[in-house]
Amino acid sequence: MNPELAALARQVKGFMPHDEGLALHRAAAEVASLGPLVEIGSYCGKSAVYLGAAAAAADGVLFTIDHHRGSEEMQAGWEHHDPVLVDASTGRMDSLPVLRQTLIDAGLENTVVAIVGDSVTVAAHWSSAALVFIDGGHGQVPAHADYEAWSPKVMPGGLLAIHDVFPDPADGGRPPYEVWLRALDDGFIEHGAHGSLRVLRKPVSRSAS
Ligand code: SAH
Ligand code: MG
Repeated sequence: MNPELAALARQVKGFMPHDEGLALHRAAAEVASLGPLVEIGSYCGKSAVYLGAAAAAADGVLFTIDHHRGSEEMQAGWEHHDPVLVDASTGRMDSLPVLRQTLIDAGLENTVVAIVGDSVTVAAHWSSAALVFIDGGHGQVPAHADYEAWSPKVMPGGLLAIHDVFPDPADGGRPPYEVWLRALDDGFIEHGAHGSLRVLRKPVSRSAS
């Protein structure tokens, strides 16, 4: 990965350990020339820099989707709340301005397209992707909804990446792990694991949906 972008990604606020981000970058680099990369859960753009660097190197594109209103655990009073991200005019979370600044700082404005909205709504109008990275709502309902909406969009031979997969319940919430098991059950093939990042490939011949 471009060392300047790697150094910048480290500095961006967010939830992507550097070694997992580099693993995500490597997966994205494998397929970035085949079609668009899609990320669910932009937040402040940390993982978007790892993915966007791969897209830029391949003359590809990353679409990063977020409503920027925060997940449940990011709301006031919850574990991952950051008061700096509250928009004073509405009292609601808004990470979009920080994402935009991250993309400017990274020089990725022409490579990364920010889509502001609900991930499942966007999926309903999407055709296909070379890689889908699921890191949006981590609760039972949103995690499975993202899988159901987005896994069919992965092109044959393309990659599905899932973050925060914790086989041991002591390490974190269940839904991303359940989604990973579900993907295996649906015919996706294990491609790599790094920390809580899991990468799967959709087979070219037989169907996985
Ligand atoms: N990938 C980021 C972290 C993402 S945190 C990083 O590298 O730091 C999860 C994000 O998912 C939050 O910003 C939240 O607003 C977003 N999100 C949750 N549910 C969503 C939904 N249904 N549609 C779009 N975005 C959603
Ligand atoms: Mg995550």
